[in-house]
Amino acid sequence: MKYFLKTYGCQMNIHDSEFISGVVEEMGFFPSPPDEADLIILNTCSVRDRAEQKVRTYLGDLKKIKSKNPRLVIGVMGCMASRARDYLERLNFLDFLLGPTQIESFPAVLSGVLKNKGISPPRVSLPFKYKRADKISAYVNITLGCSNFCSYCVVPYVRGRERSRPPEEIIEEIKDLSGCGFLEVILLGQNVNAYGKEIPGWSFERLLEKIAEIDGIQRIRYTTSHPRDFTKSLVLKIKNLPKVCEHFHLPVQSGSNKVLESMNRGYSREEYLDLVSFIREEVPVSSITTDLIVGYPEEGEREFLETVDLMERVKFDHAYILTYSPRPGTSAFSLGDPVPSSEKERRLHFLQEKQRQHSLFRNLPLKGETLEVLVEGKDPKGNLIGRTRTNKEAFFRGEESLLGKLVRVKIEEVTPWSLKGKEL
Ligand code: SF4
Repeated sequence: MKYFLKTYGCQMNIHDSEFISGVVEEMGFFPSPPDEADLIILNTCSVRDRAEQKVRTYLGDLKKIKSKNPRLVIGVMGCMASRARDYLERLNFLDFLLGPTQIESFPAVLSGVLKNKGISPPRVSLPFKYKRADKISAYVNITLGCSNFCSYCVVPYVRGRERSRPPEEIIEEIKDLSGCGFLEVILLGQNVNAYGKEIPGWSFERLLEKIAEIDGIQRIRYTTSHPRDFTKSLVLKIKNLPKVCEHFHLPVQSGSNKVLESMNRGYSREEYLDLVSFIREEVPVSSITTDLIVGYPEEGEREFLETVDLMERVKFDHAYILTYSPRPGTSAFSLGDPVPSSEKERRLHFLQEKQRQHSLFRNLPLKGETLEVLVEGKDPKGNLIGRTRTNKEAFFRGEESLLGKLVRVKIEEVTPWSLKGKEL
């Protein structure tokens, strides 16, 4: 039996798909192209309207495939299975829908659907293993859901309120990963630095400390942080834990206090800039990246220029910049979508160009430096690709035997997006 799994959206979804693949392969399915598959699963994202549109279009194609092959099983998982449930329930060719908070019931639901189709899945062993994308770097969930209710975001509605996984469970999982040879873990959650709020005696700082004690793990990364919960004490903890990488992803979203307040972000531009200065002072060899939204309903030209000004002050290493997309059910939905698309595009391109200049500004001083790179793969031209501790992509010529190793690379060329060098 064959399966096809398509994943949309964020790292949380990519990691959920590692679980989904692990389950179906344990049940005896092999990966295949969609037109040969007996089982097709879409792991969807609702953060932006465009992501949902792509799924709707693809579902149109799947309807045609299913009309020719009625035994085909099709399931929709991920955020759309919660947010757009009414719409999906009307599509009578779908066999199951499972939102992100129901993912643990996936093995039982899939077994039931297959039995109804007359397919008996083989008995499978528990616990199900994630099918990890590689043997070098592994995602590990530490928090699930979010309780922040940023005005534009559907996550608290589709992934539920914030919960921290028990620390013992996380530590056991990472010990296992280390035993399997993984060198790097990426701790995942919508707001990782809020970890442990509901577990007496635990905090994100303590969790980092405990993970850093695990032999074999060489690098610890985490995503995503919330600037409001990123304390100076956490900056100092990271500074003093050599395994924790010096990359600070701090989604600012806007440089305008008026917009930040309307977004319910819980910090001001002054507090954000103060945190950035503290990081640069305490961890000078580090990178700071961000997320930005342009065209939020309350963003006029003045507020937009405040964002440009904040970018000029920080000069981020990298920024993920998106245009605002109103999402039904969020509090900002009632504000409408007054900024015309053409104006959103203008602001987007302006910030993208600004960011290109800033990324180059941050990368230029790295020319001639020797950096530690964890080798993760190969590009089509035969270069090895890896990441520096500051999460910059680095390319260099080298033997395939270096895959999965930490190597020292002398940087010879830089662009805004990557570094190129040679192994020392
Ligand atoms: S912190 Fe805000 S933007 Fe991030 S997931 Fe939670 S509600 Fe959404």
